[in-house]
Amino acid sequence: MSTLFLRTLREDPADADVDSARLLQRAGYIRKAAPGIWTWLPLGLRVLNKVEAIVREELNGIGAQEVHFPALLPREPYEATHRWEEYGENIFRLKDRHKADYLLAPTHEEMFTLLVKDMYSSYKDLPVTLYQIQTKYRDEFRPRAGLIRGREFVMKDAYSFTVDEEGLRKAYLDERGAYERIFHRLGVDYVIVHAMSGPMGGSASEEFLCPLAIGEDTFALAPDGKAWNVEALTTPRPEDVDFSSAPVLQELETPDSATIDTLVSQANALHPREDGRAWTAADTLKNLVIAVKHPEDAEHDKPWREIVAVGVPGDRQVDLKRLEAQFAPAEIEEATEDDLKAHPEFVRGYIGPRVLGPQARANESIADPVRYLMDAHVARGSEWITGADRTGVHLFHAVYGRDFEADGVVEAVEVRHGDMSPDGSGPLSFQRGVEIGQVFQLGLKYSNALGLKVLDPNGKAVPVWMGCYGIGVSRVIACIAEAHHDERGLDWPAAIAPAQVHVIATGKDQKAFDAADALVAELELRGIEVLYDDRRKVSPGVKFKDAELIGVPLVAVAGRDTVSNGTIEVRTRTGADLAAVPADEAADELVRRLSALG
Ligand code: ATP
Ligand code: MG
Repeated sequence: MSTLFLRTLREDPADADVDSARLLQRAGYIRKAAPGIWTWLPLGLRVLNKVEAIVREELNGIGAQEVHFPALLPREPYEATHRWEEYGENIFRLKDRHKADYLLAPTHEEMFTLLVKDMYSSYKDLPVTLYQIQTKYRDEFRPRAGLIRGREFVMKDAYSFTVDEEGLRKAYLDERGAYERIFHRLGVDYVIVHAMSGPMGGSASEEFLCPLAIGEDTFALAPDGKAWNVEALTTPRPEDVDFSSAPVLQELETPDSATIDTLVSQANALHPREDGRAWTAADTLKNLVIAVKHPEDAEHDKPWREIVAVGVPGDRQVDLKRLEAQFAPAEIEEATEDDLKAHPEFVRGYIGPRVLGPQARANESIADPVRYLMDAHVARGSEWITGADRTGVHLFHAVYGRDFEADGVVEAVEVRHGDMSPDGSGPLSFQRGVEIGQVFQLGLKYSNALGLKVLDPNGKAVPVWMGCYGIGVSRVIACIAEAHHDERGLDWPAAIAPAQVHVIATGKDQKAFDAADALVAELELRGIEVLYDDRRKVSPGVKFKDAELIGVPLVAVAGRDTVSNGTIEVRTRTGADLAAVPADEAADELVRRLSALG
């Protein structure tokens, strides 16, 4: 440490918003270059290299082969897959001196697909899985939490190429297995959650989330341990309600009741229930009008806009993100003034099922009937107060399946604590987490877009099935730091600590330094990495504080006791399991303790 390029900080950096960012900077692992852009210092680089080595070992172990692409890429391949635009403001685009467009790659599906297309042409060449550990660039709207959401970050991305879907499934499971071993070895907690495929297109996908309160993802847990990203949650079909004794449909005056709150109070004031129970928001069905922005498709040669109505229980919040996921690749937004004006059948605040979907199509006076979708929580046979399409009037006892129908079911609202899990195994609870990895069955999206085909055994050209698999290598380091620290510093698992043993020599007596030198030499001879605090003019207090901050798991101190009785103090970083060991046995003791740490 007398020569190590390191300066620990006593004070927290002003803008560190999470513990990992605070401690990784204070302990001299990383340094901020710009928002979301970090410099790796010697200690940090050691940790990064170790994490990468574990990732490499496990991926090589499943037969994946490492390659390395440039980060600076031309526009054309991303144009072919529409991602040059789809990524929106999230990518860094730039021009060369000849005004040609380039980008700093946010992910590399296109390049891997083209590489395999370049080199392979037969089913006999497959399967193959390629990967790289590369710097990625994303112009994140809000870089935050240090290494967790950077604009430049290190990702491991792997891509599998197989001749059929069955091959894809096997490659996917191999990769998933490697992830479990990687995260286990890294000492990081994870939950595997079912995920939505998102803008990448494709089918099955799972995310590895590290459960942390600072995470930006929310996942739902069922009692049987299964987990879902909230965007991927589906509501099991609620049981049909017997409506044989439901009152007949009534159209009743409810003045000034365009919001759920005013409707509920008007209903209770003017039309109280006969059973004495009060009307609540849960009795109301509001009909939300959205605009769906579809991309061009087989029937439309340019992007097109569709107005859709969604029926939602009044006591639930609409979740536009979940709703939008149902319309992918289309995007949605709330209907505008102009959208509503184009539908004279809509009476703002009083839109009801009679002007929507099947009801609208049966009504000749409605020129342009809109699709009507029902939130998945609405049971067939259930009874509602809903709009009557006249200002100040509502329908009461409107029974879904008796008085009105819809065109389909959607996930439109926020899931709540206690809602039934998708597999019906019990009520859901929610936790926050950070996505550290994702495995993804891409299917044929990229092979079709970029023309990656091979000849099958019959000599027929068939598109190649692809999977893609990412790990946030730099992000995972921050997650480990989040889970392994205390108020005094970092506390690394031995497998990725920058060294396994922190040897400290204290005092002025040369004998302590000689004993420490000998111990360091002995440990290094046995292949153990040592961080050696050999600084002469630094007080023991400062050295101990630095050791706690840096977070190497085992500490050995040569000091006054070494001089007086020839022992070296061996302990954990936190001071636990303290023992005074004869100097010439200290190396053995440390080796023994290290193997116990695993
Ligand atoms: P997020 O939803 O957190 O933005 P993502 O789903 O867009 O992530 P992927 O495209 O799946 O990310 O990238 C693979 C992995 O790269 C992620 O699982 C995550 O661990 C990591 N990663 C993604 N974005 C960042 C970032 N801005 N900084 C650090 N790591 C990131
Ligand atoms: Mg992801």
